[in-house]
Amino acid sequence: MSQKTERIAIEGMHCANCSALIQKMVGRMEGVQECSVNFAANNGTVTYDSDATSISQVIQTIVDLGYGATVIPKENRAAFDQERRAKEAAQHKHDLRLFVMSLALTCVIMIVSMTPLGMNLTMPLATAVYGADHTHEQMMLVMNVVCLVLTIPIQFVAGLRFYRGAWGALKARAANMDTLVAVGTTIAFAYSLYVTLSPTTAGTMAPFETSAMLITFVQLGKMLEARAKGRAGEAVEELMSLAPKIAHVHRAGEVVDLPADDLRVGDVVDVRPGEKIPVDGVVVQGSSSVDESMLTGEPMPQEKSTGDEVTGATINGNGTLGVRATRVGAESTLSRIVEMVEQAQGSRPQIQQLADRIAAVFVPAILTLGLVTFVGWILYAAGNGGIDGASFERALMAGVSVIVVACPCALGLATPTAVMVGTGRGAEQGILIKDGDALQEAGKIRRVVFDKTGTLTQGMPMVVGVAYGDEASEEDVIRFAAALEKGSEHPLARAILMYASEHDVEVPAGMVTDFEAKAGKGVVGRVDGELFGFGNERLVRDLTGAGLPAWCTEFASEGMGAHATTMYLVFASFGVAGAIAAADQAKQSAAEGVRQLREMGCEVYLLTGDAKGSARHVARQVGVEETNVMAEVLPGQKAERVAELIDVEHERLVAMVGDGINDTPALATADVGIAMSAGSDAALEVGQIVLMHDDVRDVAKAIALSKATMRKIHQNFAWALGYNLLLVPLAAFGILPPELSSACMALSSVSVVTNSLLLRRAKI
Ligand code: ADP
Ligand code: MG
Repeated sequence: MSQKTERIAIEGMHCANCSALIQKMVGRMEGVQECSVNFAANNGTVTYDSDATSISQVIQTIVDLGYGATVIPKENRAAFDQERRAKEAAQHKHDLRLFVMSLALTCVIMIVSMTPLGMNLTMPLATAVYGADHTHEQMMLVMNVVCLVLTIPIQFVAGLRFYRGAWGALKARAANMDTLVAVGTTIAFAYSLYVTLSPTTAGTMAPFETSAMLITFVQLGKMLEARAKGRAGEAVEELMSLAPKIAHVHRAGEVVDLPADDLRVGDVVDVRPGEKIPVDGVVVQGSSSVDESMLTGEPMPQEKSTGDEVTGATINGNGTLGVRATRVGAESTLSRIVEMVEQAQGSRPQIQQLADRIAAVFVPAILTLGLVTFVGWILYAAGNGGIDGASFERALMAGVSVIVVACPCALGLATPTAVMVGTGRGAEQGILIKDGDALQEAGKIRRVVFDKTGTLTQGMPMVVGVAYGDEASEEDVIRFAAALEKGSEHPLARAILMYASEHDVEVPAGMVTDFEAKAGKGVVGRVDGELFGFGNERLVRDLTGAGLPAWCTEFASEGMGAHATTMYLVFASFGVAGAIAAADQAKQSAAEGVRQLREMGCEVYLLTGDAKGSARHVARQVGVEETNVMAEVLPGQKAERVAELIDVEHERLVAMVGDGINDTPALATADVGIAMSAGSDAALEVGQIVLMHDDVRDVAKAIALSKATMRKIHQNFAWALGYNLLLVPLAAFGILPPELSSACMALSSVSVVTNSLLLRRAKI
């Protein structure tokens, strides 16, 4: 079985029922494992078994339901998006034209049917048809026919999309917002037609303005909604626009300007002063300072010269750089960030399921309620002097009004728009919230567990001291330690290797065999067949079965050593030969970040594999209480320690903030896993929230953002439901006429989307 995941752009969704419908029908297809459709973002993600079905079958299913669907390509996204935006713009234009037509016609209908001017205007027509001595009935018939002719384009041209949508839903035995609009307006139209044609109602004005105004208002609402939806998705567009479009590429000895999308791995590009770097790559020529703030948040430009890595979309300073492309297209850093943001924006928090469930029963319930209203009014009329034309019309209009005012579009927009704006807002600030549940839960975090190295500290330890026993020299200790660390990617390894090169200690290649990294302990290997290692006290115990000699304990507890991580060079045969202490600085943001969390009422913990001494030192620096320090924890146990903090009722949630591979189990165990982006890919993968700027203060920001977003979602629900609760009775009792209902409905969607957009200004 081969599993594939594709993203699909979907056109023509009108409401949350549309997305729910597509999700249901595609989800039912054989071979489809998962399908999630986002109404607010106009796209969906499908995971399927490519042996059992194909993406074209999935597309066909969506098209059969009456929507447009295209696979979003992984390469050349810029071109695709441009095309998609052009299509959307054309659609907006088309909608606008239809709306203007409807509006103009509706105005004429209202003038004809409701003002004295109407009589004057139609009089010549009546005279032409029936002669100067036409009756009042004949005059009315002429006016009604004029209105009928004016209403037809609104009902069946502008209103076609509602019929189409309703038909698509009906085929799938579902009902949606289009169903309500189609049913409501058709009833109103059919009734007007009846009034016009039936001899029993001769001499009465047919209420064509009802369905005309209804459709016009719904169109207006949809247009405003589409515009607002577009704005909710701007974060991704802004990110994409960071990438330069053109690259100066060396091809066959010449420099040519090509679209940046056409670059291949290995291409060398020129980056001139002030230009954006078009690809991820390595500097092969020149040197310059590069502004990487859009990715790292670091305001100081970084010096780059031959051999240094650079990232696409960062801005070159004053020098000219030659850059060899190492990652292009979908692999590039920027594409991966965009993907993460899109994933975040499309994700559905649990609360959305509640909305979906409500929406599913909503439409049938409202249709029933409309019917009940109609029957109620008829019964009332029957009991109060019998049913006549006027009372029948009143009953019908009340029923239509109920159906129209209760449209669930605001309900459907409540969650996705807030999620889009909230996650977009986060992305702008370097906080990527990858899944909807994390967005929902982060606000409930009450305990935050920090990994030390690379999370609270800079992760750039520096060697601060070397000690050695009788059998070795300082140079030997450094050489053997460095030889082992060549195989490790731990920040401590970097410190040792840097120290070795600074002190010109030669480390012969191939000196160590059988290299192995011992997580949470250190590294081991063999030299001339003899087992030796470099790591902490645990490793010493593992290799020799004994504890530390006195001189080591002394070194580790004195002077700089007391604040540093001490590692020991140990041989299985004769014990510890030397010790190296490396100290890591707390991040500048750490103390402030911890303080903010505590101010929010969070308990803060420190969890590290490092020794107690250096753990406590960092804890003091950043303001974590000593009782909350958990040191010398092996990687495998980190998850257990986090699990112990988790509250069974799931009310006071636990977040784990980490960066390393050794943190991944703990990140996965915590209620919310937060990864620092400078960390390992594994941590980025597992973390539900990624902090792009590696700033400790962003943990508090993420929590605040979650709270603000959830508050918006709840407000939106209150709006959408409260609105119905208030207006449905008004409509049912005939106080709210259908045309006002449709205006109110448009207003409710727009107010929900606008409320979500306010999140962009929320202080976090
Ligand atoms: P943290 O929990 O702070 O991220 P780790 O679990 O990665 O730390 O490591 C815990 C301890 O194990 C370190 O403090 C160090 O003493 C030892 N250690 C791990 N990797 C290495 C290495 N490559 N070289 C030396 N010591 C190491
Ligand atoms: Mg770490």
